Amino acid sequence: MHKVVIIGSGPAGLTAALYCARANLSPLLVEGLQVGGQLTLTTDVENYPGFPQGILGPQLMQDMREQAERFGTNFLTGDVTAVELNTRPFKITLAENDQISTQALIVSTGATAQMLNIKSEQKYLGQGVSTCATCDGAFFREKELIVVGGGDSAIEEGMFLTKFASTVTIVHRRDSLRASKIMQERAFQNEKMKFIWDSIVEEVYGDSVVQGVKLRNLKTNTLTDIPCSGVFIAIGHTPNTRLFVNQLDMDEQGYLLTHDGTKTNVPGVFAAGDVQDHVYRQAVTAAGSGCMAAIDVERFLEQEAL
Ligand code: NAP
Repeated sequence: MHKVVIIGSGPAGLTAALYCARANLSPLLVEGLQVGGQLTLTTDVENYPGFPQGILGPQLMQDMREQAERFGTNFLTGDVTAVELNTRPFKITLAENDQISTQALIVSTGATAQMLNIKSEQKYLGQGVSTCATCDGAFFREKELIVVGGGDSAIEEGMFLTKFASTVTIVHRRDSLRASKIMQERAFQNEKMKFIWDSIVEEVYGDSVVQGVKLRNLKTNTLTDIPCSGVFIAIGHTPNTRLFVNQLDMDEQGYLLTHDGTKTNVPGVFAAGDVQDHVYRQAVTAAGSGCMAAIDVERFLEQEAL
């Protein structure tokens, strides 16, 4: 029987583990198969405070893990296949049918950026292909960029990138944007923004870094070559919440709903990081909410002991 189990090993989970460990709760952190979360898919991280020269994403996650381990976090690598949250202690089933039970649970399973699912996109991920303009935009000063997608994220990321890039071309698969009207108007008025309609990215090409994309026009079936240094994919995120369907309250996109800090609708279950945040999605905000979840767990267990 554990006092607290944390599912997910990104900045939210590891920060929750650090705080729980320092509160003598001997946390068990179950690392999913993508150990370290989304930051392991990026290269330089320049916006995590405390690293004036920047730090590599995988290194930052390794350091966070070591720090959590130093204070007594136990780690278990494996995928959780089921959770039972209707009675306490909560039951967690892992692949191979191992079961764990715990008095409190922190869910920090993150979100996964949707990808185009073309081979070349994986090859250049972190070498010009990015899913986060806030994280990587500053690496593309005076460069030509494309952003794929037609929703609010694509427009917001595109507008943000115009601060650095010489031009930002939105590539959208239809001939009208899904983004809100006000965002569209702003984008159309921005001189650095261009639009290519009815088109999809068929291939990202380059040498060691991205040099361009081949686009297919879905109406004419023609291929066009667009030279660029960066490809930002903004076609949505999927929160990793499948395990919690019908157990934890979610919004219509599947993000967990929290209240009063990190509480979910089930007392004793807390949520932190991108799994409950589709607005900020930053490593530092995820880490912050991981800290909040740990403090919430500590108070929850203390109150129960009274
Ligand atoms: P979204 O609204 O679902 O838009 C995804 C876009 O990507 C759509 O335009 C879609 O095309 C396109 N797309 C999807 N799969 C594709 C594929 N395989 N290839 C090419 N294009 C593809 O997602 P989002 O923009 O991330 O926004 C998610 C939610 O957050 C929305 O509710 C949005 O309003 C909100 N949000 C709000 C703000 C803000 O208010 N500041 C900022 C960001 C996000 P189709 O249009 O053809 O489906």
